[in-house]
Amino acid sequence: MNYDLIVAGAGPAGLMTASVVAQAGYRVLVLEKNTSCRSPCAGYISNTINFELPDNCIIQSGIRKMRTYYPDLSYHDFQLNGFVVDRPSFDMALAVKTKELGAHIKWGSPLVDLIPGGVRYYGGKACGKIIVGADGVFSKTASLLGVDKPRVAFCAQYHLRGIEVLPGICEIFFDADYAPGGYVWIYPTGENSVKVGLGITEAGTKSPHEYLDAFISESVIAKRLNGEKTEYITGGLPVSGLRKKLCYGNILLVGDSAGMADPITGAGINNALLAGGIAGKTIINALENDDMTLLGYYEVKINRLLARPLTRSLDKRKKLDEYCTSNELLQEHLQEVWVTFRQYWE
Ligand SMILES: Cc1cc2nc3c(=O)[nH]c(=O)nc-3n(C[C@H](O)[C@H](O)[C@H](O)COP(=O)(O)OP(=O)(O)OC[C@H]3O[C@@H](n4cnc5c(N)ncnc54)[C@H](O)[C@@H]3O)c2cc1C
Repeated sequence: MNYDLIVAGAGPAGLMTASVVAQAGYRVLVLEKNTSCRSPCAGYISNTINFELPDNCIIQSGIRKMRTYYPDLSYHDFQLNGFVVDRPSFDMALAVKTKELGAHIKWGSPLVDLIPGGVRYYGGKACGKIIVGADGVFSKTASLLGVDKPRVAFCAQYHLRGIEVLPGICEIFFDADYAPGGYVWIYPTGENSVKVGLGITEAGTKSPHEYLDAFISESVIAKRLNGEKTEYITGGLPVSGLRKKLCYGNILLVGDSAGMADPITGAGINNALLAGGIAGKTIINALENDDMTLLGYYEVKINRLLARPLTRSLDKRKKLDEYCTSNELLQEHLQEVWVTFRQYWE
């Protein structure tokens, strides 16, 4: 079958792009490497999300505060409104909707090559007019295009059960001994369960797994975290900011494959959905007019919306790189590099 659009990656970016284009009646194929949705994630989403979520994927609603701890454990509270989702259920809900809108999803079918007029995937070939690389931080599409690999923060996370929870509060810990170059998060997921995870950069000398185990068993708050570990995941986040080029002829990069996660907070779901919507509309315009040069507007629109905030975060990331190896420096400069402080925005 000849497709109008082939999307690599069934995460939020790829599924949003596919659903918008399928809804307009075009033939869409989504190729997903895994046999189901399972992107690693902590799942915090702000209420500002412009997308209707099915209730069954929300595991903690009513998040109203982010508590940021300095290395000396003094803290700063910031009001926010959001919720925590179960990422596989969230992505699967999007996949079901995308399928209902007419897209064809092939699970367990990673994209392996870009060929004239289409793609090769594990198990076959498909022809398509437009290709979208929404295959995440380690994007095969981007590497086939020959673009630089992004800098990556590596993460590890447990689901802990049977522990005391601070209701409605997402906690963030900065400590060079446990999360060099990043931070530890504790997000509530129920009355007595949390996701506890961390991300680190190359400033770390141990694996994320080792740092996380150390935080849970030895840190000053270790007693609070003495629960049952029920799930363990690892993953990566792009921290080198938005890619300069997002459109390569008939190929677009969307979401983490284009560096759209925030280089400081690591949040990327909202931007992936936003960019997927914009990519989808731009693709429909190009298909309606049978003019692939119109795809270039995707890059223009994304730059207009995301270049400024992501460039600011990238500048802050460079500062955090300077401060992240010493708790004295972190204690002194945290307000400059973390989003909940006024100084970050000055
Ligand atoms: C541990 C961790 C915690 C996070 N917590 C949060 C959070 O709380 N809030 C937030 O907003 N963001 C969070 N993020 C970031 C967020 O998960 C990403 O920014 C977001 O998922 C990006 O969406 P995407 O669709 O671009 O990529 P992904 O969600 O990564 O989806 C890419 C998809 O492509 C597939 N794929 C890969 N290679 C191929 C291939 N060759 N062919 C076909 N398919 C392929 C993958 O299997 C995957 O399904 C977190 C990330 C990590 C690692």
